[in-house]
Amino acid sequence: MDLSLTEAERDLVDLCREFARKEIAVRAPAAWEEARCPTDLLREMGALGLLGMLVPEEWGGIGMSTVGFVAAMEQLGLADQSVAAAWQAHVTIGSLPLLLFGDDAQRERWLRPLAEGRALGAFGLTEPDAGSDARGISTQAESRDDGWLINGRKTFISNAGTDMSFGVTLLARTASAEGEAPKFASFVVEKDTPGFTMGPKMRGIGWRGLDTRELFFDDVWVPDDHLIGDPAMGLNQFLRTLEVGRISIAALSLSLTQAVLDLATEYARERKQFGQPISQFQAIQFKLADIATELEAARWLTYRAAYLRDTGQPYLKEAAMAKLKASRVANWAASEAVQIHGGIGYMLESPVSRFYCDAKVLEIGEGTNEIQHLVIARALGC
Ligand SMILES: Cc1cc2nc3c(=O)[nH]c(=O)nc-3n(C[C@H](O)[C@H](O)[C@H](O)COP(=O)(O)OP(=O)(O)OC[C@H]3O[C@@H](n4cnc5c(N)ncnc54)[C@H](O)[C@@H]3O)c2cc1C
Repeated sequence: MDLSLTEAERDLVDLCREFARKEIAVRAPAAWEEARCPTDLLREMGALGLLGMLVPEEWGGIGMSTVGFVAAMEQLGLADQSVAAAWQAHVTIGSLPLLLFGDDAQRERWLRPLAEGRALGAFGLTEPDAGSDARGISTQAESRDDGWLINGRKTFISNAGTDMSFGVTLLARTASAEGEAPKFASFVVEKDTPGFTMGPKMRGIGWRGLDTRELFFDDVWVPDDHLIGDPAMGLNQFLRTLEVGRISIAALSLSLTQAVLDLATEYARERKQFGQPISQFQAIQFKLADIATELEAARWLTYRAAYLRDTGQPYLKEAAMAKLKASRVANWAASEAVQIHGGIGYMLESPVSRFYCDAKVLEIGEGTNEIQHLVIARALGC
């Protein structure tokens, strides 16, 4: 496995490092404090081509590899996790159903604006009574008048309610004959479609800059050309999309771990107690050494999953392992980094506290860690 970056990937990393340092790190903390999605930053990232990361040039993107995407995330997530979360949700689950399963007319109409950074994409799977159990969704789509009538409710949907959002690609149940397995299809529902409404931005303990809401569909009618791909394959499409999402959350976790390692190391070298920097105490050194080692282990799992995807090999198990390991490491590392900071680490005035708040969701979003265990166990033949 060769994980050295190509010239294009290295250029992308440089671009992301610069933008993260000069713009995101400077402007995103205020958005986090105000619990506001900084779409100004996302628009600027769009202008740089970053919103079409995994979309080929033919459809307005930059056709980057998954390895390049992970490397870009390592830079963006260092500066702010909410912006990186909104970005990755757009690039993966928000855009890929259209790229992978849409027809050319749908790609031209909806994917191109997403890839060119003129709109933000959203993925509507979770419902109040169906999270881990995706087959349990109850949103219904009924074939009606050369189109589909959609009724139901989605929850925790990211990127659907900003001033840059185009709407949502959602999963709904369709009619199946008595005794037949349930069928699912995916549809695009654009903003401003009659009957499509949403609740206020939800208030998370972290990712406060990410726009996450409940969506309501009351007799929402969309024409047939809003159906994405095979009407019986919607669930399969969504689950395949989530495989990439797992690599993405693993990459986000790497960036958080690197951020808290950097902050804790810097603090430990400056903070003096008992007449010396606390970095001179072996207890602190061991914590930092452990974080660095675990981060490197998580990094290899994540890049390997990305490499497998790029080379057309199966990566379901590896993506689940990467997400499981990297999100655990991020949560443990964030806690250790706060510990190294002592009292100031607990205060929202210190940047490390923000990363600590942002860490928890990494073990929940895009399939909880319990579900990652199930995926891995199934791959082992259990
Ligand atoms: C900030 C944020 C953003 C999100 N963005 C989106 C989005 O854009 N689009 C979208 O569709 N969803 C989104 N989600 C939803 C997210 O994917 C779900 O929260 C997640 O899949 C878990 O579903 P749930 O919350 O219903 O928990 P549940 O499925 O109810 O799980 C509750 C607990 O039970 C455990 N559990 C469930 N089943 C099993 C089992 N079989 N074995 C062992 N343990 C089990 C879970 O691991 C968890 O610990 C978002 C969530 C958050 C918090």
